[in-house]
Amino acid sequence: MSDLSDDELERYARHIVLPQLGGVGQRKLKAASIAIVGAGGIGSAVIPALAGAGIGRLTIIDDDVVDRTNLQRQPIFRDDQMGEPKAQLAADFVRALNPQVDIAAIGQRLNADNGETLLSAHDLVIDGSDNFATRLVVGDALTNLKIPLVSAAAVQFQGQVALFRGWEGDKPCYRCFVGDAFDTDDCDTCAEQGVLGALTATVGSFAALMAIRAIAGIGEDVAGSLFLFDGVKLDWRKIRLPKDPNCRSCSA
Ligand SMILES: [Zn+2]
Repeated sequence: MSDLSDDELERYARHIVLPQLGGVGQRKLKAASIAIVGAGGIGSAVIPALAGAGIGRLTIIDDDVVDRTNLQRQPIFRDDQMGEPKAQLAADFVRALNPQVDIAAIGQRLNADNGETLLSAHDLVIDGSDNFATRLVVGDALTNLKIPLVSAAAVQFQGQVALFRGWEGDKPCYRCFVGDAFDTDDCDTCAEQGVLGALTATVGSFAALMAIRAIAGIGEDVAGSLFLFDGVKLDWRKIRLPKDPNCRSCSA
């Protein structure tokens, strides 16, 4: 692993003094490559957190443009950027925040045909996409590629985050969790149900924390546990997810 420059030693000084992270952990973050699917509400929290933290290479995948209704929960975009492509704008945001990060913007919609190609060669993927069809494509591709997945979703006042490594023994994959029912329909739309902006930020920051823990090897391994946040009760719950012995993604 490469050493840290003077700029980096200063930039990450508040990380490096952490006993759980230190210079060794910071170099692991620098050596890491993370793809983020979706530059929406979740992505708007994940992207600044990972860029600021000094993840060496980030790939941002989103085929959408900024809409006025996004600005309530997507603070990496500005009012004067409506209509512009999100992946490119998010990459510009990262470059301005931390020039040390190697950033790639992919303005394509991730699907079953391009999923494995776009996601391969990463150490971890954070999925903050807004529909089950994309999430299942991401989950299945990452089980095949043996790449850890941090899946994060938020709707109304409810959030959920989980780390999946479905190719490992008794560990569930994303499809074990949601089943096959959602393969075709986009059933959870923010447009219909609404979502609180501060909720997507909370859930996205939690997902970024989970990714940093996994890359740097901090704390216990939480793969296969689902974290549920209730923004009305202000309560986090942790549930262990079972592996589906008949799952067509991880148990074939
Ligand atoms: Zn499975």
